[in-house]
Amino acid sequence: MKAPGKSYRKGITIIELLKMFPDDRTAENWFEKQRWPDGPVCPECGSMEHIHANHKTMRYRCKETRCRQFFSVKKGSIMEGSNIKLQHWAIAIYMVATGLKGVSSLKLHRELGITQKSAWFMLQRIRESFETGHLELSGEVEVDETYIGGKKKKEIRGRGPVGKAPVVGAKQRKGKVVVKPMKRTTSKALTEFVEDTIHPDSTIYTDNYRGYWQLRAEYNHQVVRHSVSEFVRDQAHTNGIESFWALLKRGFHGTHHHFSVKHLNRYVQEFAGRYNIREMDTDAQMSAIVKNMDGKRLRYEDLIA
Ligand SMILES: [Zn+2]
Repeated sequence: MKAPGKSYRKGITIIELLKMFPDDRTAENWFEKQRWPDGPVCPECGSMEHIHANHKTMRYRCKETRCRQFFSVKKGSIMEGSNIKLQHWAIAIYMVATGLKGVSSLKLHRELGITQKSAWFMLQRIRESFETGHLELSGEVEVDETYIGGKKKKEIRGRGPVGKAPVVGAKQRKGKVVVKPMKRTTSKALTEFVEDTIHPDSTIYTDNYRGYWQLRAEYNHQVVRHSVSEFVRDQAHTNGIESFWALLKRGFHGTHHHFSVKHLNRYVQEFAGRYNIREMDTDAQMSAIVKNMDGKRLRYEDLIA
């Protein structure tokens, strides 16, 4: 089945998904294959020596004499401590991977038959697994900021509308995006973001905002003037990052009716993460999400604190 987007991408239909995960056991096998391609690894001590355990939720027991821990594929990943079935986790990961505008907790609650609270917690954890750590962009890179959330009618004071949260982003042409929510879009904050994200030999494209002026000293800095007729004058444009903002905002307004600045970072990382794996086949996207769950933990108490 041909997936949306790039013509050479291979998707997974709902019918194929049902065949992949008819029950919890097949889902568990699938998760194990993604996390442990060479066989189960004890998340406690790293040993590959194990026995099959006669345990309700833990399939394995570590054979290492000093360890002897029971473990399952959930342990040592973002799914640790979750009572949600692995079949449900697999389907949720499919929905997040393929839902270009994101998935709401209400939708997940209805589709999986779990409480909305569980669905919300699950989504936060899947989002957390999109956090990939440091990425460096190079070559031709577009930089821009946008504002997410808030009420539309509250109007402009300084740069950007009141009540909205600023997010800065960089997109390498034909490459990945890196995004970061900010408190303020000061020159200092923007410069720090660019220095941290973009290799110094790069050409950067920004609009005329004076917050970017300082970058001229360090980078080949091309300024896009939105007002005049030279808009999209040859290479000087920021169309790439702007189309990513459009996707992020469509997702936000279509899916998330309650806005919390506290969870904004996880939300934008989900969009950036999904964007950065957009050319992969759907099964590879799902696998990439599971691999990124490794070694991460997000507890409910920390989320609502
Ligand atoms: Zn062990």
